[in-house]
This record gives sequence, structure tokens and C-alpha cells, in this order.
Amino acid sequence: MKWFYRCHTCGATYEIAPGRYLCTPCARQQQKDRPLAGVLEVAWEGAADPRSLPLPIEPPWFAPIPVGRTPLWAPQRLREQFDAPSLWLKDDTCNPSGSFKDRASWLVAAFASKHGVKEIVLASTGNAASSMAAVGAAAGLRIKVFLPATAPLAKRIQVLQYGAELVTVDGNYDQAFDLSLEYSNRTGSLSRNTAYNPLTIEGKKSVAFEVVDDLIGSGAGAPDHVFVPVGDGVILAGVYRGFEDLLKLGRISKIPTVWACQAEGSSAIARALASPLEGNDAFGEPLPSSTLADSISVDVPRNGLHALSKLRKYAGKAVIVSDGEILVAQKTLASGSGLFAEPSSSTAFAGWLKVRESIPAQQTCVLLITGSGLKDIAAAARGLGLQA
Ligand SMILES: *Cc1c(COP(=O)(O)O)cnc(C)c1O
Repeated sequence: MKWFYRCHTCGATYEIAPGRYLCTPCARQQQKDRPLAGVLEVAWEGAADPRSLPLPIEPPWFAPIPVGRTPLWAPQRLREQFDAPSLWLKDDTCNPSGSFKDRASWLVAAFASKHGVKEIVLASTGNAASSMAAVGAAAGLRIKVFLPATAPLAKRIQVLQYGAELVTVDGNYDQAFDLSLEYSNRTGSLSRNTAYNPLTIEGKKSVAFEVVDDLIGSGAGAPDHVFVPVGDGVILAGVYRGFEDLLKLGRISKIPTVWACQAEGSSAIARALASPLEGNDAFGEPLPSSTLADSISVDVPRNGLHALSKLRKYAGKAVIVSDGEILVAQKTLASGSGLFAEPSSSTAFAGWLKVRESIPAQQTCVLLITGSGLKDIAAAARGLGLQA
């Protein structure tokens, strides 16, 4: 197999090597306060083993930490409650650091190890930081994270327990993003910033392979609908990448309908999808984000242009839910299934609750439950009318 980077906008190709993040000519078109221009996709050519997950880094480079292969739940009581016999929950709270982000961190760390890079730096709303810190601890890499002071306590403590260096930013995620880029540009350490490092998208595709393996293994067939909580749009793009690979490998016959689930106070991608305009024009001026679902709270979705192009290409859909709906969904999910999800992940369930009646009951719906409820106890307490 031959592996390379390809610009999703102009098709230019590049070698997968340290220091390469964006497509050079497309990145020059970057506009202020707009999604990243020139995001690269990982691509491959040649013969692949259709049974295995194709990845651009060889297995020996992966750190010894059990990322992925998370369980797919058949939530019997929720199925009865909502008359939804084909509902499934993909439980990514089971990853080592408690979130889906470990899938991307694991691949980025393998890349660093292969190329002899010793330090990884990133900005995060919380989960990417705790995730990179966990995987870095297993891999023996130095990790430096820029985190807004408002990040939930559990995520900040995780970073420190895993032994990473924490830089608290007196500002929002967007400011942390800029500061971390300044640092990696200055020092040459590897940036794991989401979307900016193409491996963050690639690492997330493994979830599509697992879902298809497990559903087909259980006799349910390939998924018809996948519900994804969306902030920067990297999980969304990674999910599409996985299904594109599965289609190319002949493992599925169509790309499922992917639902981008967003919080009302941070819904740039859903609004862009509804816009008749293209590219940056579909995004327009950013609105300041405001939602209690911190992991999906972004002003400018970094992978917005790429995610939008995938949603348009595959007739993906978007659904917007309020913070109130997210908190109700969190409790309904936990009490109806035993799966306690953080608010961002509950957004996938809230989105499904909102549109489920438009989906025929026999069509398979998979909800990505991306992060543990224990990561943000204050938000969960609020949903119960308590203080924490
Ligand atoms: C980061 C994150 C998301 C959103 O992913 P994006 O790639 O930013 O769209 C959803 N849920 C959890 C738990 C996350 O940590």
C-alpha cells in the first residue's frame, strides 16, 4: 500500500512527514475567523487486506494502551421505551482517558514515535488534552497542553495526573489554539491540534470499522444512520473517512446517513449546511459559542470546510438541540440504559430523540457516545437541579 496526504480542496498530494500539516497553496487562502483552509486527508492506493483496518503507521509503533475496540450496546430498555428495535450505542466512554479522542491521540503518538519526535503540543477544550496526556504517558512522550481556564476540573486533573504540562489560557479554546500553534511553530514540536494535524481525522476512522464489524457480526447488517456530536467536525470527518474506506474495500455498499448533532449555542456546521452558499461564505462571521456541552463548544469549527464538504457530498444531515434538551437526554440515556455520558455525547442522543420519528423503525441507528459523564459532574448536577 502507498500512503500520502491529499488536500480535500485542490487534490494536491504530499508525503506523510513531520512538519507537514496543511496544503501550502490552500492554506494561503486562510481567512480570519474562518475554518482551517487546506485541511489534508490521509489517502492510500494499492492492494489492502479487506479484513483489517488500514492505517498509515505500522502496528509496532502504537503505544501499549488499549484504545478503541469499544463495546456496542443493544440498549433493550431504551428500545422498548422509544419503540426503536434497531437502536445501538457505541460506547467510547470505555477508552483509557474516557473519550473518543484517544483514537486520534493513539495514531498521533505512533507517528511521533516512528519519527523520533519527543514532544507533542496541543490546544483543547479538555478531552483532547487529557487523551493526549494519557496516551503520551503510555508512549513515553512529552505532552504540553494549552487549555482554557474554564475546562471542567476532571479534565484538567487528568492532564496533570498523566504527567503532562498544563498551560492554562485566560481565554477560550480559539485563543488556546492560536497559542499552541505559535509554540509548535517556534519549537518544532509536533502539533496534535484537531484538524490541523491530518492524523487526528484519520485516527478517528477506526470507529466506523468497529461499528460495521460488530453490527454485521450480530446479524443487524451495515448501519443506516450514525449520530455524531459535532464541534470542530473532526469526529464527523473521521467517521466519513472510515465509511469511505469500507466502501472502497467492498465491506459496505453505501455510506450511511450521518447526522451532525450540535448544541444550539455552537452550531456553525449545522448552519453552514443549511446555507445556500459554499465554502467560507456558508460560514460567515462566527457567533460566540455558548453551551454547557464544553467539548462541542467552538466559535470557529476548525474542520468546518472539510466537514461541510463531506455532509454535502453524502447527503448528511444536521440537527440542533438546546442545552435543556441535552440535559434531559443525558438523564434519559443514563437512567434508561446505564450509560452515563457527558453533555456533548448526550447531544447525539438528544439529536436522535428529536428526529427519530422521521426514521423507519427497522433502519439501524448508531449513536456515538463519545465521552464519560464523570468528566463533567458540574453539568450533570445541573441537569438534576443540584450544585456540584
Ligand atoms: C471533541 C469531542 C466531540 C466533538 O468532536 P469534534 O471533532 O470537535 O467535532 C464530541 N464529544 C466529545 C466527548 C469530545 O471530546
